Amino acid sequence: MNPNPELIDKALALAPTDLWVGGNWGPAASGKRLAVVNPATEAVLTEVAAGGPAEGAAAMDAAAGAAKGWADTAPRQRADILRRAFDLITERAEALAGLITLEMGKPLADALGEVRYAAEFFRWYSEEAVRGFGRTAVAPEGHLDILTVRRPVGPCLFVTPWNFPLAMATRKIGPALAAGCTCVLKPASLTPLSALAVGRVLEEAGLPAGVVNVVPAESSAAVSSPVLADPRLRKLSFTGSTPVGQALLAEAAPGVLRTSMELGGCAPFIVFADADLEVALAAAVAAKTRSNGEACNAANTFYVHESLADDFAVRLAERFAALRVGDGLEPGVELGPLVSADQRRQVAALVDAARAAGATVLTGGAAPDRPGFFYQPTVLGAVPPDSAILTTEIFGPVAPVTLFATVDEVLTRANSVDLGLAGYICTSDMKLVRRCARELEVGMVAVNTGPISNAAAPFGGVKRSGLGREGGPEGLEEYLDTIYVGLPT
Ligand code: NAD
Repeated sequence: MNPNPELIDKALALAPTDLWVGGNWGPAASGKRLAVVNPATEAVLTEVAAGGPAEGAAAMDAAAGAAKGWADTAPRQRADILRRAFDLITERAEALAGLITLEMGKPLADALGEVRYAAEFFRWYSEEAVRGFGRTAVAPEGHLDILTVRRPVGPCLFVTPWNFPLAMATRKIGPALAAGCTCVLKPASLTPLSALAVGRVLEEAGLPAGVVNVVPAESSAAVSSPVLADPRLRKLSFTGSTPVGQALLAEAAPGVLRTSMELGGCAPFIVFADADLEVALAAAVAAKTRSNGEACNAANTFYVHESLADDFAVRLAERFAALRVGDGLEPGVELGPLVSADQRRQVAALVDAARAAGATVLTGGAAPDRPGFFYQPTVLGAVPPDSAILTTEIFGPVAPVTLFATVDEVLTRANSVDLGLAGYICTSDMKLVRRCARELEVGMVAVNTGPISNAAAPFGGVKRSGLGREGGPEGLEEYLDTIYVGLPT
């Protein structure tokens, strides 16, 4: 039974089900459509047009055709459109949250957090769009003025994942529009509705035709490959898994494209010996269960000092066992389903392997017997140090706890993975905080708290977690070229 039919109607009404190319909404030439499934019920919610190579090429034409006009549009006008888009998302926040919950599964309150986060990329970059770019200097010899001019990089391809279907679109579109770039957006096949709703918002905000084009697809490469091969494309920004990111980087090489890569994570959550356990537990629950555990910056592996490990694991298990699991549209639900049967299979396999290797299941450890792709919130204690679950991105509500003895040991173990997106540390020792900021091989460090994502902050990773940053002034840099003009004095 649908827990909230009125909200479902309002939510689905916000998302067009056609492709948005060159300012027109329409079906794919092939007539193909893509079913969107509600992971809480396994029922088909709706079908959207599924683009192919022809639509990829048409969207590229539209983005290239609109590029000069948009680059020449006054920054104030670009800012006003972004600001209107922020206002429209904010007005529709509840229904947009419903849309995220319907197609992706995270609980409504969590989805509302994503809507606010997503909207902020439009507001923050509307404010940044008018901040004048560039600098002047004098050559050390005194014979030359050095001027820099900032130009939009040009048409971009955006490929986004299913776990933050609204925010991953606005985190790219906001700075791109502020800088004067146009784009083709290929949202994740599992969750195209939120991206289509963003298209509708931008249209209503007055964005000229062709500046943003939204092309869902069943086969992602069918759309992305012709766009990547087009010599007019100047930039690729991708958020998703490391293997797909690596393949897209190879496809971007012939065109020597600017690239931003927001890839996988395997965040260490380190509880040092002096940590306040209550603070650490609250941070752990937030960092593990946000977005049903399907967040690239989710706490992955809990390294707890041996003096606290048993206590921490037992108390974390109590909190996980008390979480209300269900359809995210139901009031009070704290954890929804995983996005797909496939995703659940991967999570279950990691838990089963850890259990077989000797880990203790303190709570959860199985899929509940009900429709939907649910997996119980799970805490694993005494996980052997060589278990794959400690060094693999879990992407589900599973917290493996392993103990450590010394700071050197835990930093070495945390840095042994080839991913480096986020890291969480719990301590009140400022020397230790500074040491972790220097030595933990991650792009973001959260201290005594859960996720620290913010539109004004640079989000991104090191090592195989990616290239470039999204958010903050750094996020705008990704969309600007620097042109040097030398003027004899
Ligand atoms: P994914 O890599 O499977 O898919 C991401 C996007 O790429 C989707 O739009 C998908 O349709 C598309 N895609 C897949 N194969 C493709 C191909 N061969 N050519 C072109 N496009 C292709 O990732 P996912 O499962 O959607 O998302 C989960 C992953 O994303 C996790 O690894 C997570 O850590 C990562 N992620 C990273 C960040 C970040 O900011 N670093 C944020 C969110 C998610």
